Parts: sequence; structure tokens; C-alpha cells
Amino acid sequence: QSKIRIGIAGYGNLGRGVEMAIAQSPDMQLVGVFTRRDPASIQLLDASVPVHPLDDIERFQQQIDVLILCGGSKNDLPEQGPALAALFNTVDSFDTHATIPEYHAALDQAARPAGKTAMLSVGWDPGLFSLNRLYGEAILPVGATYTFWGKGLSQGHSDAVRRVPGVKAGVQYTIPAEEAIERVRNGELPELSTREKHKRECYVVLADGADAADVEQAIVSMPHYFADYDTTVTFITEEELRRDHAAMPHGGVVIRSGTSAAGTTQVMEYTLKLGSNPEFTAAVLVAYARATWRLNQQGVVGAQTVLDVAPALLSPKSPEQLRKELL
Ligand code: NAP
Repeated sequence: QSKIRIGIAGYGNLGRGVEMAIAQSPDMQLVGVFTRRDPASIQLLDASVPVHPLDDIERFQQQIDVLILCGGSKNDLPEQGPALAALFNTVDSFDTHATIPEYHAALDQAARPAGKTAMLSVGWDPGLFSLNRLYGEAILPVGATYTFWGKGLSQGHSDAVRRVPGVKAGVQYTIPAEEAIERVRNGELPELSTREKHKRECYVVLADGADAADVEQAIVSMPHYFADYDTTVTFITEEELRRDHAAMPHGGVVIRSGTSAAGTTQVMEYTLKLGSNPEFTAAVLVAYARATWRLNQQGVVGAQTVLDVAPALLSPKSPEQLRKELL
């Protein structure tokens, strides 16, 4: 059987991670990267892979089996997703939870008439965490599901910190409350407020002449982002920021705590500890690209999510091999 031919649309952190993950997937081949920037300005890890302008992508329909969309959820995917899903089988990591239903509808409308399969919201949350929330609820219908995130660097909250006047640069880490996680693990089924579940830690480089107390106050009182949390602000130098805060770790835990009809406590737990959020998310995208191609071959078209995909479709191994080795 020939290799699955993959294209990458957008080459940021996630695009680079997808290139790495394909290198570890012998059944896949990266045929090209597509970008809105000048292709000559993009340095791939493998210089033998061509980079093309995204505007030219229509010409490559016969050469790409699955296009992995690596644009941002906020501005890129709402536009790029439906446009590209009419031309290619696609996989993306759209993570704006509140607008997933609209995005799903837009992709479905584009992909279905074209006979293409559009796999949306793949990654770890949404993605693997969504699957584990589903397993928990389906298996233990009487109970509660808890998701804790971190310790991890939050892109959205880091952006919010950087927009505060007087902030030159900065990052924000989301920290789960260990005491709360312990109570959940013990089957106590606690009701937890936002403040009890997570803390936020900010590391900030002050702009010249800015007042530290003012900046700290502006951050900790920011509605939605920080006001509902215990937030700490630590001022650091630019050099410390570069040295200690360049990695993008993340992770978290999904816990389902339930009781059987006999009153017995049952707890299911799924944990991720990720040294690099984009590299891991990319690895999930690549496994789901394999499933997307197989679904399309089977005639399953339109918008699909991780909740619709049978696990065996993710694996390069045959069903026989999986039954023998993993079942
Ligand atoms: P990113 O590095 O900002 O890249 C986003 C896009 O920006 C790229 O596709 C690229 O498009 C452009 N870009 C990248 N570097 C650039 C530069 N130096 N100058 C100008 N443009 C540049 O974002 P990311 O870290 O890859 O994350 C992408 C999305 O993944 C996020 O928005 C998030 O929604 C999603 N995500 C999802 C999960 C999940 O679990 N579901 C987890 C992590 C992330 P062009 O090449 O076309 O210019």
C-alpha cells in the first residue's frame, strides 16, 4: 500500500510539530507546506520538502490525500477551514469550544457536497480530553466529570498579560489546585468554584518607567481572565524570560467520579504531562489524518470529530494485529 500524502497549511509551532510527527510515521509522506508568507522566508526542518504560496494550493488537489490545517483558531481557521475543506480532506485543531457547533456546520456544508472529510477540533483539549469525558459519562452515568489544566503555558492568557499597559513581555501559567484534584480522586464529588480549581502565575517584564504596583493591579483585576482566580505576578528580566520561559509545557487531567447503583465509588482518570503542547497536539493531528484518509476511502464524508472516529482507524497496524497485540 502506498503512503498517505500529507500537506501542511500554515507553518507556526503546530506546523513544525506536524512535520516532526510525520517523520515518525512510516506510512506517511509530507508532500508540501503552504504558507501566506513568502515561501522563501520559511525554513523547514527537512529542506527537501517544497514550500508553496497558500494561494496556489488548488493546483495540488491530486497530490494531497489529507491537508493538515495548522492556522490559529481565532482568526485563521474560521476562514481557511471551510475554504480548504471544499478542496481537500482536512484535519484541524480548532479549539474555541463555544463556537465548535457553528464551525462544524460551516465545514460540513463545504466538505460534504465535495465528497471530502473534514476532521475538526483534534488535539488534546478539544480532542483526547473530550474522548475521555465521553467515556467517563457513558460508563459512569451517575457522577461528575472534572477537567483540570496545567501546569501549562496558556497562550490566550499570556496574550492578555502582554496587552496590559506597562508590560513589555510576559507569560502566564495555569496551575491546577492539587488539594482539589486529591478530593476528586478520593471520590468526594466536591463542588468546586473557579477559584478552587486553578491558580494563575504571571511572569512579567516591565516596560521602561512602568509602575510595578499598577501593572500588578491591572492584571489581577482583569475580568474573565484573572479576576476570578488567585493570581500571582512575578517581575523578571528579559533575560530570565528568555532563559526560563521559552518552552511550551502543558497538560492536565480528566477525572470521572461516579457511583454504581449499589453505592460503590468508581474513579476514572486520564493524565497528560506534555513537555511541548504544540509538538503533542501535532502528533494527535497526524494520527487523526490517518483516520481521516481511511474514513474518506470508506465514503464517510462531511464534518467529523474525534467522537465519531473508531480508535483502530488511528493506528498504522491492521485490525488483526491490533486484536492480537493490544486487545
Ligand atoms: P502560531 O505559531 O501562531 O501559528 C499560527 C499561524 O500563524 C501559522 O499557521 C502561520 O501561518 C502563521 N505564523 C506562524 N509563525 C509566524 C510568524 N513568525 N510570522 C507571521 N505569521 C506566522 O500558532 P500555533 O502555536 O501553531 O497554534 C495554532 C493553533 O493550534 C492555536 O490557535 C490553537 O487554537 C490550536 N491548538 C489546539 C490544541 C488542542 O488541543 N486542540 C492545542 C494547542 C493548540 P502562515 O504560514 O500561513 O503564515
